[in-house]
Amino acid sequence: MSQNLLDLDLEGLTAWFAELGEKPFRARQVFHWVHQAGVADFAQMTDIAKSLREKLQQQAVVAAPAVNYAHTSADGTRKWLFDAGVGNGIETVFIPEDDRGTLCVSSQVGCALECTFCSTGRQGFNRNLTVAEIIGQLWVAQHSLKTVPNRTTGEIAERPVSNVVMMGMGEPLANFENVVTALGIMLDDHAYGLSRRRVTVSTSGLVPAMDRLAERRPVALAVSLHAPNDALRDQIVPINKKYPLAELMAACRRYLVHAPRDFITFEYVMLAGVNDQPEHARQLIELTREVPCKFNLIPFNPFPDSGYEKPRADAMRAFREILQDAGYVVTTRKTRGDDIDAACGQLAGKVADKSGRVMKRMHKEAA
Ligand code: SAH
Ligand code: SF4
Repeated sequence: MSQNLLDLDLEGLTAWFAELGEKPFRARQVFHWVHQAGVADFAQMTDIAKSLREKLQQQAVVAAPAVNYAHTSADGTRKWLFDAGVGNGIETVFIPEDDRGTLCVSSQVGCALECTFCSTGRQGFNRNLTVAEIIGQLWVAQHSLKTVPNRTTGEIAERPVSNVVMMGMGEPLANFENVVTALGIMLDDHAYGLSRRRVTVSTSGLVPAMDRLAERRPVALAVSLHAPNDALRDQIVPINKKYPLAELMAACRRYLVHAPRDFITFEYVMLAGVNDQPEHARQLIELTREVPCKFNLIPFNPFPDSGYEKPRADAMRAFREILQDAGYVVTTRKTRGDDIDAACGQLAGKVADKSGRVMKRMHKEAA
C-alpha cells in the first residue's frame, strides 16, 4: 500500500525516507513541495532526482480528502464539504477578513460528547479523522485560495490562511494524537509556518487532554463554557459530569503557564431563556475570577428540532454589558456565511443524514 505523505509530519517523513535509503534533506525538499507549493504530482517536483521521483510515484501519494462540494457565500465565506467515506462528509470553512483569513477545521466525523445544542453532537460519533484528512483541509484551502484575490484589497495572498481554529466538527482533544501531529505541521516553518498564537484548539473541556496539549503542542486555547454553574452545564455539556467546572477552571490556569497568549478564550453559546440571563453573566464573573480570559458570545445557530432558540438581541446586549462592566473583553461572534449553512454548529447537520437529503440539497443549490 502506498504511503500518504499528508499523514506524516517532517519527522515522520524523514524516518520514512530513511527506510527508502534517502537523506533527511530530501525529505525536507519534498515536504516543501507538498505543503508550501501545494504540489501532489511527484513529476512536478523538478529539483528532486528522477530516481527518487520514480520511487515516490510507486510507493507514495499526496492525497487530501476529495472535495464533494465547495461554495462561496455572498460575504466571501467559503465552505468545502469533503468526502469522509460511506456517505459521510466533513466540513471546512474559510472566513476572510481584512487583516486575516481564518480556516475552521474539523477533527472528527460526528462527536461523542453530545452537547445538546450542537448538531454534530446530536449525530453521535462516527470516527476520528486521520492526519491526512485534518491537514488535507488546510492543504486544499491554502492552495485553492491562492488564486483568489482578496475582496477588499484585490491582492493575491501567497498564504491566504493566516489563522486556523479547530472549531469545525468534532472534539479535537478526543482525537489527540492525530490533531497534535496535524498541529505540528501547521506550525512547522517547512510547511505552513503558522505561529502558535494563530492556531486555536477549541475544547469542550477534556481536562487531562488539556494538560497533555500544554506539554506537547501549546497553541492558543478556547474552552466551550456555555454555562456558569455545574447544574446547568451538566445538562447542556454532558462532559461536565466527568470534569466539573472547578476542575476545568484549574486546568485553564495550568494551561496558561504554557499558552502562547496570556488568556483563555471562553466560548459561550447563548441559548434563549436557558443561559442568557443577567444572573448567568454575574455567575460567570464569579466562576472565572481567577482565570485571565476573554469571552466570545455566540448566538445559537438553530437547526431543525434542536429545541433551542436564538437569544434576543437585547438579552445578548445586557449579558455582554454585565461582563464588560466587570472589566472583561467580550466579542460577539458575527454570523458569517449563513446563506451557505457555514455558521458554527451547523457544520454537521449533514453527516449523519444517511439519506443524502442535505447533500442533494447542497448540490441542487450549487447547480
Ligand atoms: N468540540 C469543540 C470544537 C467544535 S465546536 C468544542 O465544543 O469546543 C466549536 C464551537 O461551536 C463550540 O464552542 C460549540 O459549542 C459551538 N457550537 C456548537 N453548536 C452550536 C450551535 N448550534 N450554535 C452556535 N454555536 C455552536
Ligand atoms: Fe462535540 Fe463540540 Fe459539538 Fe460538544 S459542541 S458535541 S464537544 S463538537
